Amino acid sequence: MAQAKETSMPATSNLTEANEVAAGGATATAVAAAPAEEYSDQEYVVRARNVKRVYEIGGQPVHALRGVDLDIKRGEYISIMGPSGSGKSTLFNMIGGLDKPSDGTVFIDEVDLAQLDAFELAWLRCRKIGYIFQTFNLIPVMSALENITLPMIFAGASLDEQMEKGKKLLQMVELEHRMHNKPSQLSGGQQQRVAIARALANDPAIVLADEPTGNLDQKTGKSIIELLKRLNRESGVTIITATHDDKMLATSDRIAWVIDGQIHRLMTPAEMDMERGTVDGMH
Ligand code: ADP
Ligand code: MG
Repeated sequence: MAQAKETSMPATSNLTEANEVAAGGATATAVAAAPAEEYSDQEYVVRARNVKRVYEIGGQPVHALRGVDLDIKRGEYISIMGPSGSGKSTLFNMIGGLDKPSDGTVFIDEVDLAQLDAFELAWLRCRKIGYIFQTFNLIPVMSALENITLPMIFAGASLDEQMEKGKKLLQMVELEHRMHNKPSQLSGGQQQRVAIARALANDPAIVLADEPTGNLDQKTGKSIIELLKRLNRESGVTIITATHDDKMLATSDRIAWVIDGQIHRLMTPAEMDMERGTVDGMH
């Protein structure tokens, strides 16, 4: 078994107390990585291999994912497009380590998530992945600044680091004047900007944004997408975003079309426009 690269996972001794708490005091075992000869290309930050997820409702199987293969390059901005119920959120849960596939493998930075124990998975989720949800999911009793610094507390940052970075992130999303406001005192768009800042708190390799504009009006939604794109360009963070609104696709490097639990097409916006042009021309 190859050793995980330094950027992938820390040595057990480097894990912070906060993570120990997050993992319920579980003991870390040796870090597992994908075989180096097979997955040595660090160009890819996510690799999904034949990922399946079967749910059960009333004893009946629901095939939410039917074997997804997806390679996502570091720094890429990729949109997962598909109708409601096609499996986008399920795929996000797999990539984000929030749920386990029924079959298949997800590698994040060459690390096979299935090989991680609770302790290591908690570390990965805290440090490598930022999550953005349709419903913002901010903590109502905390201010904007406190919401943003919370993941830093779990990562073991000092109070000074939290304040400095928290304010920097608030500036980045143009909300420094709202730092002491609670979520209920902010508009939907402002709440989502706080959630974006929170997602970036621990400099993740990946940001997963599941329908980030779903609860916003079109103009606000567009500004959120533009912000995500700017952060992607400026910081190089990989952004994976789910949407069923095709007006949100132009900023993507690639678009993956999910239908009934499978990726049907992978294309660039230019390829999509070209196809649409052809189709339109026929009418
Ligand atoms: P999307 O995000 O594209 O709307 P989802 O990934 O949420 O799709 O759902 C894919 C399919 O899996 C749907 O048929 C949905 O009803 C089903 N599903 C999702 N989550 C669960 C669950 N926890 N239990 C049972 N079925 C689920
Ligand atoms: Mg969904």
